[in-house]
Amino acid sequence: MSEILIKNASVCDPSQGINCETMDICIRDGKIVESVSGNAKVIDAEGKLTMAGGFDGHTHSAGKINVGRFINPNDARKNLVPGLSGQVARTEKTRAQVGYNTPNTYAIGYRYAKLGYTTICEAAIPLLAARHTHEEFKEIPILDKMGLSLFGSNWQVMEYIRDKEPEKLAAYIAWGLRASRGYGVKIVNPGGGEAWGWGRNVSGLYDPVPNFDVTPAEILMGLAEANERLKLPHSVHVHCNNLGKPGNYATTIESMKLFEKIKPSRDRQSLHVTHVQFNAYAGTSWRDFETGAPMVADYINGVDHLTFDLGQVIFGPAVTMTADGPVEYANARMLHEKWSNQDIELEDASGVVPLFYSPKSFVNAVQWAIGLELALLVKDPWKVMFTTDSPNGGSFVNYPEAFTYLMSAKRREEVISGFSKMALDRMVLPGIDRELDFYELAIMTRSTQSRMYSMPEKGNLKVGSDADIAIYDILPGQVDPSTEYAKVKAAFSSAAYTLKSGEVVVKDGEIEETPKGKTYWVNAKIPESIDTAMQRDIDRKFRKYYTVSKANYMVEDIYLQKPVEIGTEGVF
Ligand SMILES: [Zn+2]
Repeated sequence: MSEILIKNASVCDPSQGINCETMDICIRDGKIVESVSGNAKVIDAEGKLTMAGGFDGHTHSAGKINVGRFINPNDARKNLVPGLSGQVARTEKTRAQVGYNTPNTYAIGYRYAKLGYTTICEAAIPLLAARHTHEEFKEIPILDKMGLSLFGSNWQVMEYIRDKEPEKLAAYIAWGLRASRGYGVKIVNPGGGEAWGWGRNVSGLYDPVPNFDVTPAEILMGLAEANERLKLPHSVHVHCNNLGKPGNYATTIESMKLFEKIKPSRDRQSLHVTHVQFNAYAGTSWRDFETGAPMVADYINGVDHLTFDLGQVIFGPAVTMTADGPVEYANARMLHEKWSNQDIELEDASGVVPLFYSPKSFVNAVQWAIGLELALLVKDPWKVMFTTDSPNGGSFVNYPEAFTYLMSAKRREEVISGFSKMALDRMVLPGIDRELDFYELAIMTRSTQSRMYSMPEKGNLKVGSDADIAIYDILPGQVDPSTEYAKVKAAFSSAAYTLKSGEVVVKDGEIEETPKGKTYWVNAKIPESIDTAMQRDIDRKFRKYYTVSKANYMVEDIYLQKPVEIGTEGVF
């Protein structure tokens, strides 16, 4: 039995409505408990901000990131954030680290832990490539992991939607999650990945997918209904159509509106929209491009069925990686960059393109502003999850820098002062004076995640929750984030302590221990008769089209590290 007592912590835990109150936290065997014995090891957290471990609910840390590593080897040496990037020699406790946007697996674990983060969600797992994603998960130390499986351009999905077979569709989703050991349903540019197989894209919600006679709107609704029928812990997780195109804010709002009629089967949203920064553009071309964030935020403020994350841009080099194949091809053409595109058989597409966000580029400056505008114009922080869509908007190691933008208007002004007049005319950020406090920041980095993924043991410090805890050397009330933002950045860049499952993994910004994390996946029960009928359909697909047999397709138990199976029972 291992016990820890964290004494005199200044606790910020929005899930319990605790706003920086001094209290003790008791830990036994990896969980938060009511009390501990006199033998407990004591951590004195006096004067330190204490939160649940950070939870990155949308990041690219395993799978496609490997393509990024291959095509962008110069990233290995980039040391743009000292202590959190570049090449670091091995030590007695840690393996060698390289990279900035596409760090090696070990570095991903250490660096998130140094930021006080303890859980990550890999945002896109192609079913067919899931095995390798889990192999990489195994090599990312410390963190708990989960992943979202791609269904938005899948032949079987589109056929069941076209043929109006909702029960078989739900059975297929359940099977796909089991096969890939995924946690939820990811939809990327619905239908667009399949269209890209023919060198095309879909242009909006009602543009039929070539050869399938279904529209992106039908794919979204079909998958959302299947998601709720299976009572999955997360809602569908959607990367909208027309990403990266001026004027796409209209498609984004239209997509969000569709979900007003979806009734969630659990106490959570019916839709999560991801990296909305890339989907909140107004104008008709790159010439008259401007922010669409006020329109999107206005809509979100008036409804309560959705959550979203930012996809905040960080100036400097980044690497885009997405299942949105046509977008990556367009990026490569426009930026004259290295690129990779992949066709994932019957399931989706993907692509990787490195790029550079410059404050001198008016488009990049406006993109930077849009992410912040969304976070600050949406009134309810419980609808917002902070992300850079790492490394699409920039590497996660820049989170502390981005927190200063959210917490300080003065810091924003400093950055904005370097923008051109043309950029300033296209954004509303300079007129926004809202500054987030530590409580709101905790919501966007922990509490929203716990609720939106239905993970009551994560993202909070309730008795019974996992003892994943971040202690930062900063005291709300004594530091004013709006002027002393350098202190905010320093504190969040180097946790005084990070505890993972009750074990001290970081102390004073240094890695202490590197335990293995858990892997969460969802096993949704379906009636045997429907499963049998669905299996007959996919047997045909495997025989006729796939390069692998069905028997070799499922990710076996041996690939999962400390698996946590979340069971659900659907309605059929
Ligand atoms: Zn993403």
